[in-house]
Amino acid sequence: MEIVLLYGGKSAEHDISILTAQSIIQTIDYHRYAVQPVYIKQDGIWVAGEKLTQAPDKEWSLTLEIADDAKYGADQSTGREVVPTDVLSENTLAFPALHGPNGEDGTIQGLFETLNIPYVGAGVLASAAGMDKLVSKYLFEKAGIPQLPYIGLTQYEWQTEQETLLNAIQNQLGYPVFVKPANLGSSVGISQANTPDEVVDSINLALQFDRRVVVEESLANAREVELAVMGNDYPKVSVPGELVKEQGFYDYEEKYINNTVQMAIPAHVSDDLMAQLQTYAKQAYVVIDGSGLTRCDFFVTQDEKIYINEVNTLPGFTQFSMYPSLWEATGKPYAQLIQELLDLAMQRYEQKQ
Ligand code: ATP
Ligand code: MG
Ligand code: MG
Ligand code: MG
Repeated sequence: MEIVLLYGGKSAEHDISILTAQSIIQTIDYHRYAVQPVYIKQDGIWVAGEKLTQAPDKEWSLTLEIADDAKYGADQSTGREVVPTDVLSENTLAFPALHGPNGEDGTIQGLFETLNIPYVGAGVLASAAGMDKLVSKYLFEKAGIPQLPYIGLTQYEWQTEQETLLNAIQNQLGYPVFVKPANLGSSVGISQANTPDEVVDSINLALQFDRRVVVEESLANAREVELAVMGNDYPKVSVPGELVKEQGFYDYEEKYINNTVQMAIPAHVSDDLMAQLQTYAKQAYVVIDGSGLTRCDFFVTQDEKIYINEVNTLPGFTQFSMYPSLWEATGKPYAQLIQELLDLAMQRYEQKQ
């Protein structure tokens, strides 16, 4: 069978996706699979690299070979432009090593479904619901998972009822608040607002990225604890891990540029707290209709109150990322994790046939 490994993509998480793909490509069991790497350029064009029948040596780099847009433009021979149906056909299994919009939000999953191809990770509904912070909140509410008070608004409402919304933010939430575009990741478009003046700017900023926005209570000094969930009909949950930060807001720079964030795995939490987190993580997974994998992210306050923050259906996935590290600490090494994700993809596909 052939794995079509998709990476890069149109999102802000383009570069982290390349790192994810490099980790995966070194780890696939080449006795069972051949790998067709497909790089999705920033502009959405698909470029197929050479098919792999064995792990490339460490020197071989997808980034250098075909992922560098400028280089690709200068030397067409390093890859060939393809359309999805050129590479996604019978006997292929898609592995979207993509993050954010167009990779993690159900759109590309819809393409796989339409072409009737098995694929790694969450399905259309879970991907779309997980990427949308507002829809996620409605579902978490339904599942009874505690979360921070919030207000959702649309661009239209903001244009027509700004006063009312500002009053609601002041009265129902109080400052400071966090403002986020509903559909995005990597902290893009997210800011904290401390005053009514600032919230106007924050909302306008978030509206540049989406037509719907979430405004929520801001927690000071909360711990950020994440759990890995995996499975189709019988999801399993990992031990929790904690992001140990030097600053409060885990923004894009901290995530991908400064790299000042350390992971504490397992997180230092009591057994009771761990059990509660694991229960909520599983409930979140089930309520979004999770399959394959998802990382469930929580805030834990100093007095041990838990609030779910969000779920990420295709979290960072290099060998050193939180999600694989959580499984490693739970007794599942990286290679086994990848094999199980491929198996889950096939199982879900076969159930539907
Ligand atoms: P990811 O890259 O994990 O997908 P994201 O873009 O979906 O991130 P969030 O996780 O919602 O965004 O927020 C980014 C970061 O901002 C959080 O990790 C946390 O550090 C901070 N943050 C978000 N919401 C709050 C809040 N209500 N109170 C305090 N800090 C917050
Ligand atoms: Mg997210
Ligand atoms: Mg994300
Ligand atoms: Mg997050």
